[in-house]
Amino acid sequence: MRFDILTIFPDFFVSPLGAGMIRRAVQDGLVVIQTHNIRDYATDKHAMTDDRPFGGGEGMVMKPEPLAAAVEQARGNGGDARVVLLTPQGRTLNQRLAEELAGEKQLILVCGRYEGVDERFRAAYVDLEVSIGDYVLTGGEPAALVLLDSVIRLLPGVLGCGDSAENDTFSRGSRGGLKYPQYTRPRIFAGREVPDVLLSGDHAAIERWRFLAAVRRTISRRPELVAAMELTPAELKLLRENGISLPSAGVGGD
Ligand code: SAM
Repeated sequence: MRFDILTIFPDFFVSPLGAGMIRRAVQDGLVVIQTHNIRDYATDKHAMTDDRPFGGGEGMVMKPEPLAAAVEQARGNGGDARVVLLTPQGRTLNQRLAEELAGEKQLILVCGRYEGVDERFRAAYVDLEVSIGDYVLTGGEPAALVLLDSVIRLLPGVLGCGDSAENDTFSRGSRGGLKYPQYTRPRIFAGREVPDVLLSGDHAAIERWRFLAAVRRTISRRPELVAAMELTPAELKLLRENGISLPSAGVGGD
């Protein structure tokens, strides 16, 4: 998969892209990531990428022409790129959207600054607007990194074996809910013991415990997710047997 990041601060990405999973994915040839300095596409002698807003008001607006030229360059020969604008006004990034984007061949991520981008660039070039949450950042760069990380870890071969994204919180293995609590050595820490069942070697019992712990956790922390959890009749029965009642809305019955 290929990512092109359009930014006026390409240095922002040097350290994060050079560490951990993303670095390995690049080294292994699973992803190609290229940053483009929007300033390189400015046409005036001062290399201006922003200007005052028509109609007056605060701040500066990113000019459309350098952004458009950078998108055209990033498209290269491929016609399959999806142009994504990072903006607090976009669709909120979640696991489902990350999974959807992981199916693309090329993403062109446009990082805004100041008051954002000229509306005509958005209308003419942007396929999808993505927000990473209901708060306002200074620029789209941190949002682009978050999107990048959430998508890259879903690509085949990126996570090490035994380290699957499938059972993560929000993912299919967790039925869209939260993942179960996890423990490692030592067996006793701060006076607290690892639950006996996890030391039992009884895989069926461990699976049951994990399922119940995950559902309990989802109910107590994110009850709004429970409605969308896809539970089988056997799982619903197990919940009933253990005295766990689900918040009613939308949970399929058996
Ligand atoms: N004036 C804009 C508004 O009120 O919607 C906010 C502009 S913000 C200060 C500057 C840039 O940061 C945006 O163009 C966008 O690229 C990025 N940004 C800010 N918050 C974001 C968020 N929650 N998700 C994604 N990008 C964000």
